Amino acid sequence: MVNVDEKLEPILNDVLRRNAGEHEFHQAVREVLESLGRVIAKRPRYANNALIERICEPERQIIFRVPWVNDRGQVRINRGFRVQFNSALGPYKGGIRFHPSVNVGIIKFLGFEQTFKNALTGMPIGGGKGGSDFSPRDRSDAEIMRFCQSFMTELHRHIGEYVDVPAGDIGVGGREIGYMFGQYKRLTNRYEAGVLTGKALFYGGSRARKEATGYGAAYFVRRMLQTKGHDFDGKKVVVSGSGNVAIYTMEKVIEFGGKVIACSDSNGYVVDETGIDFALVKDIKEGRRGRISEYAKIKGGHARYVEGGSIWDVPCDVAMPSATQNELTGKDAKILIKNGVMAVGEGANMPTTPEAVRFFQEAGVLFAPGKAANAGGVATSALEMQQNASRDSWTFEQTEARLAEIMHNIHDTCAATAEEYGTPGDYVLGANVAGFVRVAEAMDALGVI
Ligand code: GLU
Repeated sequence: MVNVDEKLEPILNDVLRRNAGEHEFHQAVREVLESLGRVIAKRPRYANNALIERICEPERQIIFRVPWVNDRGQVRINRGFRVQFNSALGPYKGGIRFHPSVNVGIIKFLGFEQTFKNALTGMPIGGGKGGSDFSPRDRSDAEIMRFCQSFMTELHRHIGEYVDVPAGDIGVGGREIGYMFGQYKRLTNRYEAGVLTGKALFYGGSRARKEATGYGAAYFVRRMLQTKGHDFDGKKVVVSGSGNVAIYTMEKVIEFGGKVIACSDSNGYVVDETGIDFALVKDIKEGRRGRISEYAKIKGGHARYVEGGSIWDVPCDVAMPSATQNELTGKDAKILIKNGVMAVGEGANMPTTPEAVRFFQEAGVLFAPGKAANAGGVATSALEMQQNASRDSWTFEQTEARLAEIMHNIHDTCAATAEEYGTPGDYVLGANVAGFVRVAEAMDALGVI
């Protein structure tokens, strides 16, 4: 097992002690620190001026009450968060997640990951993340709107085009961004399009933003496969989830010649050996806001729905976990390896447990960590900011071409960094080190702030 360098151990212990109980945050920090031993050996300066300690401490954490009224006239209370993690490279940037599991530790892990991910894109964006323990499931449109308005009533004082630019994440899509942008505009009396990304096209959104995370993951994994002389062509692919990331991962993988045979939601998974009809998944999830079990009902015969269970039991060549954190465990990894998986690409944030990552790496499975493979979403958000700043709107082709170029650059940067640090093919190390060095260099230049 990889261990944290002895010079970094006190830093990790301090993070664990000062952020008690925040398991996902601990996991994310430990994983990055495990990669940094070799960096401080090469550049001892980083260890001397508490750069790593500073990087592990969010610049600002905002926690607030979100009161709202449901359709029955009852007052409901949720907790809102925005963790502004690091602004060395640009305004804080990162999504907002609405899910009952949200707590400060989850938002901190996401904000920490986002900082390095955003650095990897090469765009001028810092890292942040926000959200609420609100569950949008089974809520009416009017309830969603009132919740988003209440959330933004507090959040608006902390964000801005040059300050912090939120976007979507789990439970927050185009509809929620619209309601939040409307409330921001009303409260500030400013048409500040660049304050949020993931907007719809008709009021300042970017073409290809909706597709970008999934498309980007497919571009990254294809490039990774190509380093070994492979491609998606004819490969069996399993994509967990059926939300925004999963849907557009499936679309691009299919375009690249792969055969997606399974996807899932939190209730179960569906297998279709003739190839998942992603347009139907899109209609069920985006159009009707339904459950994935409907897929098998509509398709009948060749599709089967498995309630509960693990989607990773389905044999495949490429696995793309695109649902949520820690969804792919050590046990799942062993099954995937036994079934001959050759590559794993994280579409979600930290979906693979540390034990599972280790099993994949030991078995020689190509492994693309989320902070590199899923950076296409936030990279295209930065392209949306560019378009807003220049009051321009690019074509789909132009935007997708930029996205593809960025993903290839991220891939090549991670691969080159892994090689430079003595472990060719270790994309985890490559992504952590390359992302860290960019943030650290900027922080160092800005002095102790
Ligand atoms: N929530 C997405 C992520 O995890 C996108 C963030 C953004 O576009 O700002 O990277």
